[in-house]
Amino acid sequence: MELNDKLEILADAAKYDASCASSGAPKRSSEDKDGFGATTGMGICHSYTPDGRCVSLLKILLTNFCIYDCQYCINRRTSNVPRARFSVEEVVKLTHDFYVRNYIDGLFLSSGIIQSADYTMEQLVAVARQLREVHKFRGYIHLKTIPDADPLLIEEAGRWADRLSVNIELPTHDSVTRLAPEKNVHTIKLAMGSIRRKLDEKAEEPKAPSFAPAGQST
Ligand code: SF4
Repeated sequence: MELNDKLEILADAAKYDASCASSGAPKRSSEDKDGFGATTGMGICHSYTPDGRCVSLLKILLTNFCIYDCQYCINRRTSNVPRARFSVEEVVKLTHDFYVRNYIDGLFLSSGIIQSADYTMEQLVAVARQLREVHKFRGYIHLKTIPDADPLLIEEAGRWADRLSVNIELPTHDSVTRLAPEKNVHTIKLAMGSIRRKLDEKAEEPKAPSFAPAGQST
C-alpha cells in the first residue's frame, strides 16, 4: 500500500480520538467548487503547549488493526473498515517531512493494539525515540499510551514525549465490562496513576530526567 493511502486511512481513523478534536469538523471541500480550503484534509489537529501556544499536530494512528473488540470503536476487531499500518520509519519520515515543510509543529500518535500491549507501546516509543535521538526533533510529541503496557515503557515514553494520555472512554466499571471486556479499569487507573506519580517525582526533583513536561490528559 502507498504511503499516501495509509495516511488517508490512519489520519481518518485517528479523528475519533477526542484528545485533540479539531479534526472532527463536518466534511467541507472546495474541490470542484469556488473558494479554497477543506476540512477533510489528512489529520492535522491543534493542541496547547504548557506556555499557552496553539500548535498544529499531525494526528494519526500507527495502525487501525486491533486485537480488541470495544463495541463503541470503529477500529474494533470485528469492524469492516479498511485497515493499514505504518512502520516506525514511515511515521518518523512523515513527521519530519511535514515539519520541515512547515505543515505541523508536532505529532499526535495513537494506535490500535497489535500483538500485545507491550509490543504496541514499544512501537510508539520507538517513533518518539527515533525522532528525538536520530533526527534531534525538538517539536511537540503527544503519545497515547497503552494502559496494559510495561510501566518501564510508559516511563520511556515520558522521556521523549511532551504529553502522555490514556483513553478513558467509559465512566463506570460495569460499562467497561459490558462494552470493552478486554479492557481493565484497574490497569487504566494504574496507568494514569503511574504517569501522575512520575510527574510529581519530576516536580519534586528538577534534576530527574525529563518526563512529559506538558503533562497528562485523557
Ligand atoms: S483497544 Fe482502542 S483501538 Fe482497539 S477496539 Fe478498543 S478503543 Fe478501539
